[in-house]
Amino acid sequence: MYKHIGKKLKILAEIWCLLGVLGSIAAGVLLYVVKKPPMELQYCIAIAVGGIVLAILSSWGFYAIGDIHTKLERLEDKLIPKPNYMSYLEENQPLRGQCEICGKTTDLINAKIVDSLGTRYRKVCRDCFTANGCEEK
Ligand SMILES: [Zn+2]
Repeated sequence: MYKHIGKKLKILAEIWCLLGVLGSIAAGVLLYVVKKPPMELQYCIAIAVGGIVLAILSSWGFYAIGDIHTKLERLEDKLIPKPNYMSYLEENQPLRGQCEICGKTTDLINAKIVDSLGTRYRKVCRDCFTANGCEEK
């Protein structure tokens, strides 16, 4: 539920923004068209525009936190060694689970990643395997 929370938070921010924008437009229109007697036009426009601006600005906060978490997770994956993954490799079971790079649940490959940060072993999906130039291990 709380795994890869950054990605979820980013999606929530986008939904929040979309609902806020649509809700503000709806509120402005309804106050002018449906309300009897109608609210003055300039107030309806102010409510719609103000709501849209508020929805966009408030979604930035959520999105930024989600984005930071996503990037931190990626960084953590690169920097912190995970010794128990070595024992996964030795058991050589059929692999299915969450990719340790992108988080997608699919068939995984035991991958050896060699780059400027050193050598790491990760269980990754086929896409990440190709994208990161991994060696099969
Ligand atoms: Zn992946």
